[in-house]
Amino acid sequence: MMYRDILKRIRLAFPQPMSDPIHDSYFVHSIMRALDQVDALKTELPILGNVVFSDYEKARQATLPDAMSSVEDVTAEIVSYLRGMPIFGHPRTQQNVIAPTTIPSLVGVLLASLHNPNIAWDEYSRLVALAEVEVVAIASKMVGYDQAQSSGVFTFGGTGTTLYGVKLGLEKACPHTIQKGVPEEAVVFVSDAGHYCAANIAGWLGIGTDNLVVIPTTHDNEINLELLNQSAREALANGKKIAAIIATLGTTDAFGLDDLEEIAKMRDALVEEFELEYRPHIHADAVIGWAWSAFNDYSLEGNPLGFRPRTIRALAGARRRIQHLSLADSIGIDFHKTGFAPYISSLVLVKDQTDLDLVKRRPEQMPYLYHFGEHRPGMFTLETSRAGTGPLAALANLRLFGEQGLQATLGHLVEMTQLLREHLGGRSGATTLNRDNFGTVTVFRVYPEEVDTFAIMRQEFEDPAYRDSLIAHNAYNRKVFDYVHSEAMEGRGVVISLTDCYRRTDYGEPIVALKSFILSPFVDEADVKTVVDKVMEASGKIGPGADC
Ligand SMILES: *Cc1c(COP(=O)(O)O)cnc(C)c1O
Repeated sequence: MMYRDILKRIRLAFPQPMSDPIHDSYFVHSIMRALDQVDALKTELPILGNVVFSDYEKARQATLPDAMSSVEDVTAEIVSYLRGMPIFGHPRTQQNVIAPTTIPSLVGVLLASLHNPNIAWDEYSRLVALAEVEVVAIASKMVGYDQAQSSGVFTFGGTGTTLYGVKLGLEKACPHTIQKGVPEEAVVFVSDAGHYCAANIAGWLGIGTDNLVVIPTTHDNEINLELLNQSAREALANGKKIAAIIATLGTTDAFGLDDLEEIAKMRDALVEEFELEYRPHIHADAVIGWAWSAFNDYSLEGNPLGFRPRTIRALAGARRRIQHLSLADSIGIDFHKTGFAPYISSLVLVKDQTDLDLVKRRPEQMPYLYHFGEHRPGMFTLETSRAGTGPLAALANLRLFGEQGLQATLGHLVEMTQLLREHLGGRSGATTLNRDNFGTVTVFRVYPEEVDTFAIMRQEFEDPAYRDSLIAHNAYNRKVFDYVHSEAMEGRGVVISLTDCYRRTDYGEPIVALKSFILSPFVDEADVKTVVDKVMEASGKIGPGADC
C-alpha cells in the first residue's frame, strides 16, 4: 500500500477540522458504539463484566503492530480493558474515595480532549484558561478566601496541591531555594493520619523525609495540638525553619479534621515569640473536606433540605472545622474526589496571589513561550503542558450542582453513613471506630459473639496486655472481609474495603479494620443495611473461637 492510501484512512480516524456532518455522525457513532459495548458489560454486579486474569507477563512483551487498525477494532479492544473494573457509582460499591463522575464533567473532559487546549498560556487555550480562573474564584468564595486576593492553579492531583503548598512555604522560610537549593534546616509538619504524599513531597522537594515531622493524632484522628506546639518550638529553638505545617481536613481513612483555627493561632504566637522574619506557611490538605464548605451557609436549625437529626449533627460537626479553611495560606481541593469529576481535577488555592511570585521563572528562561497574551500561569506552574480537562470538568460540576446540589448530594452521603453507623450500633458484635468523625467513611471492627464490645476497643487500643487479642481480632476482621468480598463478587452484598492500619494502638500495633466509603449518590438505606447483614453473616460463619 502506498503511503497516500494509508494517510487517507488515518485522516478518517481524526475528527474533521472542517465541518463535515457525515463524518461528525461517524465520530458520534464511534463514541456511542464504545458506550454500548461498555453498557453490555453491565450486570447486577458492582463490576463491569467479570474479573479476568491480568497477564502481566504477556503485557511486558507487547509490541507495536505492523499495520494500522480501524476505529472500530481499536474501540472494541480498548473497551475490553474495562472488564473487571469496579462501578464506583454502583449502590453496592462502598470501597474507597473514588467518585462516580457526572455527565457534564465527562462532556467537559471530552471537549477539552477534543480541542486540546493547553492552559499553560491563554494563547493556546483561550476561554478554557478563563474557565480555570472562574473555578479558582468560585472555590475561593466557597472556602471564604477574598476573591480579589486569592489565586490558584489546577495541578497533577491532590499530591500536586500539597507540593505547591509546601514549596511556597519553603521559599518563604528559606528564600531563594529555587536558585540555591534546599538548606538543611527546613522542616515540615504533618499528622500521622495525614496523607503519605507529605513524605513523597519532602523527599522530592529535597527537604528530606528525615525533616518531615510526623505528629501523633488524638483518638478523633486530629493532629495533637500540644505535641505540634512542642515540636514546632523545639525545631525553632534548634535553629530550624518551618517550611510548612500541613493541616489535614478530611483524613483519607477516617475524615479526621485538624483544628486549623488553633493551628493558625499557634503559628502566629510562634512568629511573635521567636521573632521570625517569615510566617510559617499553613497548607490545608482539604482534598476531601473542601466540599463540606457548601454547608457554611446552610441553616442547620431551619434545615430547609430536610435532613435527619443525626445528619444535621454530623454536618455541624464537620462545619465546625471546615468553616475555618480560609485561615490556611493555601488549600488543596480534589474535584475528582468529593466533586464527582473524573481524574485528574485538582486545584491548589493560595490565599495571597503574590505568594505565587515566589516560584515564578524569568521570561528569558522560556524563550519559546509566553511572548504575549494576558494570562500566563505557565510562568510559575510546575507543569509545562497543562490539560483543560480538570478545570472544565470542575466548572461543569460546580455549575451542575450549585450550592444546593452539593448540599443535597453530600448530605445524602452523610445521611447514609449515619444510617450505616446506626445499624452497626444496633449489633452487639460491631464497633464503629471513627464515631466522632463526620464524613462519609466509616471504619469499623467486628468481633466474635463472646466478646464484650463495650470494653474491647479501649482495652485493645490502650492496654498492651491485650496485644494478642488485638492481633487475633485483626485476623478475624480480615476473614470477615474476605467473606464479604467474595459474596459481593457473586452478586450478594456490598463491596467494602479493608484497611491494614486504621491507626496504631497506644503500644504501636496496627489496627486492622473494615471500611465503608460511601461516595455514590445511588446508595440507599437498603444498601447500608446489606453491609451490616453481610458482615454479621460472615461473623456467624467464621464462628466463635475460630482459629484466627
Ligand atoms: C487522596 C488524598 C491525597 C492525594 O491526592 P491524589 O489526588 O490522589 O494525588 C492527599 N491527601 C488526602 C487527605 C487524600 O485523601
